[in-house]
Amino acid sequence: MTAMFEKELIHIQEQQLLRSQVRIGSAQGPRVTVDGKPVVLLCSNNYLGIAEHPALKQAACDAMERYGVGSGASRLVSGNTEMHEELERRIAVFKGAESAILFNSGYAANTGIIPAVAGEGDLVLSDQLNHASIIDGCRLSRARTEVFRHRDMDHLETLLRSNTTAPRKLIITDGVFSMDGDIAPLPELVRLAERYNAILMVDDAHATGVLGGHGRGTAEHFCLKDRVHIQMGTLGKALGSFGAYVAGARDIVRYLLNTCRSYVFSTSLPPAVCAASIASLDVLEAEPWRREKLWNNRNRLAHGLASLGVSIAPSATPIFPLLVGSSDQALHASQRAFAQGMFATAIRPPTVPNGSARLRATVMATHSEEDIAQVVGIFRILKEEGYFSHGSPG
Ligand code: PMP
Repeated sequence: MTAMFEKELIHIQEQQLLRSQVRIGSAQGPRVTVDGKPVVLLCSNNYLGIAEHPALKQAACDAMERYGVGSGASRLVSGNTEMHEELERRIAVFKGAESAILFNSGYAANTGIIPAVAGEGDLVLSDQLNHASIIDGCRLSRARTEVFRHRDMDHLETLLRSNTTAPRKLIITDGVFSMDGDIAPLPELVRLAERYNAILMVDDAHATGVLGGHGRGTAEHFCLKDRVHIQMGTLGKALGSFGAYVAGARDIVRYLLNTCRSYVFSTSLPPAVCAASIASLDVLEAEPWRREKLWNNRNRLAHGLASLGVSIAPSATPIFPLLVGSSDQALHASQRAFAQGMFATAIRPPTVPNGSARLRATVMATHSEEDIAQVVGIFRILKEEGYFSHGSPG
């Protein structure tokens, strides 16, 4: 019986696609120990450095004292507390939406929302580089899914024009693309959604806390907050906590509460996690310097890489896709970086398209100038060793 799996594993190994995990011995950066070795962390989504913030820890401890650890049941049974409801109110205000609903993770949100909104006979239009959880949500929905070329609005419009019979049309895109760091062309997406009477959903996993004057995400960045029907985002990245949300019109939120299977049939978030997320929204408001520092660090690293002739295209955010090419070489590059004192994982297919394995470097507000200088020095070595000679993924 197990021979079958062993054979599969050998096959995966032969393609240089076997996954392994390292052990992190401390909070999320900017310096951590990885398998006991101190290194600069350059692959965490803790963009604002809030995950280790004392206010979040305190809020979580206080809530844990009161509510214990587990929530005990789904929201619709006995797992709904004041913490959950308060967080939803706060997210709605933060996003400038009528209402909000929590999910246990971004993955659970996408695989729940898409099948709830679109079903057999409906049409989903999904960007080619959307996150795996969106792809899985599309599959679960049983709707007809058409994938439009990455950020290609002409292609999207062609697909919308040639599919006129579907009762419901859902356009879905990452706000910030997780592996390339580029931003969705939201003004054009809004225009097409309105013109063709489609529902527009944006996944702001990497935009929440990062994009927009107040860190409210892609819609704020483009001043389009009332024109995106389903604004999904996560709490486990820049917000330093855990879980996910949808912000939108009251009826959409009520509909999702009634129909998302990942919401209805899953134990709710621990109240202490919700308390930490509430504290995180406070920190976001009270400490705008974090976002400023994040963008300063982003620009500092971008300049450093440009001076080495390493392309970061098409990134416009703190996510840098440093293209290596083959999975084998990407693994080597990551190991070389680690030996020099920097942790940046190799990202390989199927997370990214074949032949575009890379180091995905993410910068944080908490990196110091010295950290960035050290990292640029390490990239110089890698560049000299010939790892980044394949151009950009975009
Ligand atoms: N959407 C995008 C764009 C993501 O990058 C991720 C996480 N990598 C998710 C959804 C899933 O979110 P979570 O980690 O909260 O499950």
